[in-house]
Parts: sequence; structure tokens; C-alpha cells
Amino acid sequence: MRWPARSRTPIPSRVPREQPLVARAGSERSPAGGDRGRTPHPVIQVHAVSKVFDLGQIHVRALREVSLRIDTGDLVAIMGSSGSGKSTLMNILGCLDVPTSGRYEIDGVDVSQMDEDDLADLRNRKIGFVFQSFNLVARTSALVNVELPLAYAGLRGAERRKRAERALRSVGMANRMRHQPSELSGGQQQRVAVARAIVTNPALVLADEPTGNLDSHATEEVLRIFARLNEEGRTVVLITHEPDVAEQTKRIVRLSDGAVVEDRRLAGVHDAPPAPHDLKSAHHHPVDAGVAEAQP
Ligand code: ADP
Ligand code: MG
Repeated sequence: MRWPARSRTPIPSRVPREQPLVARAGSERSPAGGDRGRTPHPVIQVHAVSKVFDLGQIHVRALREVSLRIDTGDLVAIMGSSGSGKSTLMNILGCLDVPTSGRYEIDGVDVSQMDEDDLADLRNRKIGFVFQSFNLVARTSALVNVELPLAYAGLRGAERRKRAERALRSVGMANRMRHQPSELSGGQQQRVAVARAIVTNPALVLADEPTGNLDSHATEEVLRIFARLNEEGRTVVLITHEPDVAEQTKRIVRLSDGAVVEDRRLAGVHDAPPAPHDLKSAHHHPVDAGVAEAQP
């Protein structure tokens, strides 16, 4: 179930680009999961990246020479206490911000020379974003929400609908396509948001605290979907402060004070993600442990 990532038009928060993307060379050669099971291929290469926020008198060093390689097919949790630099790193990985020094390559493309338009273009073609607060368009059906990235990519109506329906089916939302966000539970809204993130077939899914607003049941559902997307060959990087969530990924990268202080592998890049909750059937532990912001 793959289709070419063709979105070339920025999402609405941006001014539409007038020029075609200049640096396309080499960028189309590996669709999501295209080479899984073979030679490891880095989708993310971060080389000694530092980020300094200049606040006049004060310089905040949010990232200190972070180096990180993430191969296609990995499922990675980024952990760390508040202020440790997680969001700053995620913004750089997502091409929403640029390093002060160091180098970042996504899918073989060095982003350091790119202007805003090129970054926006890269973002739309290569990255699917999932946010803590879902960020769906209100009073708009799940189907139309998921169609939006395709509409900006210039796909015509019937094709758009077909792909959006397929993405929604893949996250178990076939029976809720006509529902608006306010008519869906938090877990269902997040599944719609995941469908929207994957409908353009991005090389990388980036999720910032995707389960932060979910109860433990919805958290499990969303994690199962991430695990399945990953088993289909997608690379997923998620920020979380919940140990239970991190333990269901293949690799935990921990930041402290802007530096990587731990990089622990729990499962091979091409293995199935660990499912510690299988243990529940034998030994049930309290389900709300680690869910700090559970909501109805
Ligand atoms: P986390 O997501 O782990 O909580 P952040 O990446 O948001 O951490 O922040 C890391 C550090 O950088 C913090 O000290 C934070 O105050 C600072 N910081 C983040 N964004 C900005 C900004 N836009 N301007 C100034 N300082 C910032
Ligand atoms: Mg943050």
C-alpha cells in the first residue's frame, strides 16, 4: 500500500512556494521502508548539532553537540526531563528549525543549505507529524482532515478520497470517517491524526508526546498502531516522558541538559517492537502507572 510522496505545496501555515524545489537530487530514491531488511540506511544523520537560543544577554544552549543516526525501520523513543532539549531536537529533525552548528541530513539530503521554502517542501514530502493535542481541523470530518495533505499536494478529489479512506481504515477508523473531531474520543482523534500523518507516505513519522493526552487504553491503541506502521517498514521517532511508552519502542535515546546521555537498544531495527504488555496476561500491573496526564 504505497504511493509516491508527491506533496510539493506547503501546508497552510506557510506562504506557498513559487519556485520548484531545487535540491531534489537523490531525495526520491528511498520511499518509506523501501530498503528494509537490507543494508542499514540512515534516514536521520545528526552530526555534532548544537542549538543556542540567543536571548540578548543570555545564551541558552539547548543542544550540545548531539550526534545521532537513525536507520530506516527503527522505532525510537526520545526521553528526558523537561528542558532537556527534546522539543528542540524534534524541531530540527522535523525541519521546523535549523541547528546553530553541526549538520543534519534527512534521507541523504543535507538541510543546512536549504531556505525556508525548501525546508517546507522537504517537510511535506518526507515527514508525517503527530502532536500531543492532535491538531485536527475542527468541524471537519475525519475524512477531510486526512485528505488535507493530499489536497495541498494537488491530488484530485477521487484519488484523494480513496487514499484518505485507506489510511483511515489502516488505523481502525473505517466506521468513523464522517465524524468530526468533537464527536470522537481522544484516542480516536489521535488515530485520525496518525492517518493524516501517513497518508502522504512519508519516510519518517515524528510524534511529540503522542500519548500525552490519552488514557492508558487509548495509549495502548495508538502504540499498537505505531508498532504496526513500524513493522510495515516506517521509521518512527517519538518523544515521551512515560517509561511504559518508551519500553515499547526498539531504542531509547535519553537527553539531559542538551546532550545524549543514554542510547539503549531494546530490539533490532528489523525486529518486531517489544510488547511488554503481553506480560499483563500473566502478571497484571496497575495500568495507570506512568500516565501523567490521563483524560477522559
Ligand atoms: P524539552 O522539550 O525537553 O522540555 P526544550 O527543547 O523545549 O526542552 O528546551 C530546551 C532548552 O531550550 C530549555 O532551557 C528551554 O528553555 C530553551 N528553549 C527552547 N526553545 C527556546 C526558544 N525558542 N527560545 C529560548 N529558549 C528556548
Ligand atoms: Mg518539549
